[in-house]
Amino acid sequence: MTKKVGGLAFILLSFLFVVILYSAIQSQRIYWNMKEVAEIDIPLLEVIADIEMLQLKQDLLVESLRLQQRQATAPVIRFSRASITDIEASFLRFSQGLTEQLEKAEKILLNALALGNIRLHIEQHQTLMEQIRKLHKHRLAYEYAIMPVFQQSSIELAAWRDIEDQDNQLEAETDRLLIMIDKLVMSVSNKVEEQEQHFVVVNAILGMSAFAIGLYLTLYIIVSFRRRVWSLRGKIQHLHRAISIDPEQGAQRQYGKDELDELEKDLQTLMGRLSSELDSRQQVESRLIELATRDKLTGAFNLHKWDEQIQQVFALAEQGYQFAMLLIDVDHFKKINDTYGHDIGDQVLKKLVAALNSKLHSPRDSVFRLGGEEFVVLMRQADLTSAAKKAEELRQYIAQLKVENLPKITISLGVTAIQAGDDSKSIVKRADRLLYEAKGAGRNQVMTG
Ligand code: GH3
Ligand code: MG
Ligand code: MG
Repeated sequence: MTKKVGGLAFILLSFLFVVILYSAIQSQRIYWNMKEVAEIDIPLLEVIADIEMLQLKQDLLVESLRLQQRQATAPVIRFSRASITDIEASFLRFSQGLTEQLEKAEKILLNALALGNIRLHIEQHQTLMEQIRKLHKHRLAYEYAIMPVFQQSSIELAAWRDIEDQDNQLEAETDRLLIMIDKLVMSVSNKVEEQEQHFVVVNAILGMSAFAIGLYLTLYIIVSFRRRVWSLRGKIQHLHRAISIDPEQGAQRQYGKDELDELEKDLQTLMGRLSSELDSRQQVESRLIELATRDKLTGAFNLHKWDEQIQQVFALAEQGYQFAMLLIDVDHFKKINDTYGHDIGDQVLKKLVAALNSKLHSPRDSVFRLGGEEFVVLMRQADLTSAAKKAEELRQYIAQLKVENLPKITISLGVTAIQAGDDSKSIVKRADRLLYEAKGAGRNQVMTG
């Protein structure tokens, strides 16, 4: 699932990266185009407005000249001195104004072309430049033609017609320039608008796609997550049933705030049950071990355990650990059985083991029942002297022990410790011989050797 989610997340992030990159590039493009409009096209529109105003004034001027020309009858037109001075001043203002505006437009375009600021319709901008230059020439030609009128205050009718032609041409060229600028500005702003609309549409599509991918990813994660949680809960329930004696108990489901909470509760219950299951299994196991290693009547370790332990102490002896053993036999036990009965005999054996254990250092020293009323005490890490001392202590303790409803007993002990060349049989044989000697010496004795 992590791999799939990771793959989807990678696709989503890559997609978002493309969207952001596209937006950044488009925004930059739109910014530059807007800048072009602001720095080139809007100032050019201002130039148009100014030139139109100049043209209007010029039309009035030429019209007033035309009026004077219409009143004239001779082939030579004469203007009054006063009026011609005014007209000359107006004409010079027009000429100067037009020059200024054309230079302004030329400067805007030259600057923009030189800096590479023009991105849209570069060729049309260049044509515009050519038209401005053409208009400059016309203006100069017109000025050249009209200047003699101002100097001489008169002009021949034919020459006047030529001036009128020049004026019409200048006007036509100016109009053409104005139309060109107007068209260009319109097409640039249309292009920018078109780009903006395109940008908005593409960005909306990309944004919606990113949203759809994100939504799909989220749903996918939720669904996969829920499926996994349910599958996990199913497995936990299965485990519950597998370890449960009562199938109904295992089938119980926990209810919580959400799936995770429920899963946590299921796991907690399972852990609790597993832990108590483990405890009871451990108890059973240790009980079984106990049964397998202890004598049922007295609780002393059995012969099987003795065999195991004697091998162990011999192995330890090879590493320098010594040990001793006290072979114990109840004196005249047959008589007890005969006098008090077998049950009392059993009680006596039980009590004897308890009494021995109460005087021993467990688990270092332990009591084993070898058979009948014969026991052995294994004293790990003990030498012969300390073992003899402990044997005498035990003999005296048992001899003076009074237990309600039970007859008094004595024990005989054969005490020995590990010697060089010993094995598990030879050491027991030596202890047995010593015990036999103790019996021979009148019982209730300790024989050490
Ligand atoms: P000695 O002092 O020479 O050891 O004399 P003893 O009578 O103790 O020796 P003996 O070996 O003749 O008798 C042992 C008796 O112990 C015989 C048997 O019936 C009895 N005995 C063996 N196992 C048990 C047992 O589990 N319970 C009871 N009550 N008696 C047992
Ligand atoms: Mg005996
Ligand atoms: Mg015996």
